[in-house]
Amino acid sequence: MDLSWRLRGACRGLDPEIFYTASEDEGVDRAKQVCNTCAVQQQCLEFALANRESEGIWGGATEKERRRILRQRRKTAAA
Ligand code: SF4
Repeated sequence: MDLSWRLRGACRGLDPEIFYTASEDEGVDRAKQVCNTCAVQQQCLEFALANRESEGIWGGATEKERRRILRQRRKTAAA
């Protein structure tokens, strides 16, 4: 698996705590702002979905949002 995209992440060098907030609501906006400027947002999101990352903000999506995306994809695939 090619993980070289990680080197181009806008979060590189930032405090990881920004992306691992204690709750879904606290601090999410700040992390999402960074992700929304990131050149590898889609790769990051797909990595998190493929690996069922259960914590943190990945690709601009919270855990809850990633679960929703996976549910939606399963529904679409089954249709
Ligand atoms: S999308 Fe967000 S978490 Fe993923 S590499 Fe970019 S800045 Fe980091």
